[in-house]
Amino acid sequence: MSECIFCRIVRGEIPSKKVYEDEHVYAFHDINPVAPVHVLVVPKQHVDSMAHLTAEHEAAMGRLMVAAGQIARDQGCTDGFRTIINTGRVGLQEVYHLHLHILGGADPLPPMLTR
Ligand code: AMP
Ligand code: ZN
Repeated sequence: MSECIFCRIVRGEIPSKKVYEDEHVYAFHDINPVAPVHVLVVPKQHVDSMAHLTAEHEAAMGRLMVAAGQIARDQGCTDGFRTIINTGRVGLQEVYHLHLHILGGADPLPPMLTR
């Protein structure tokens, strides 16, 4: 079994503030939020990063995207939100289990990247 921190959260071995779960997807509040709404959405099946996705992940990632939009609305982000997937060293990915950040609640959110 994977010792990855997000795999352990999915299995309930590490506590999390769950906001959504289905067959393919688990979502929980980020422990160190950078916006009033900061939710992480992960595929239950471990995959290191977006760069490691293959055709076998299509169903789970499709479900993840649909779930993310619903979660954002459920969190009150009815007028917009931002999603981010950090990938690899250059993308400053910290946890190597693919995760989508949902950011919202600030109006407006800060610029995505400073020029
Ligand atoms: P990233 O830089 O995209 O890999 O982001 C990793 C995110 O995981 C950060 O925003 C962390 O605050 C968050 N994080 C790390 N450990 C936990 C945890 N145990 N529960 C919830 N969020 C976490
Ligand atoms: Zn994992």
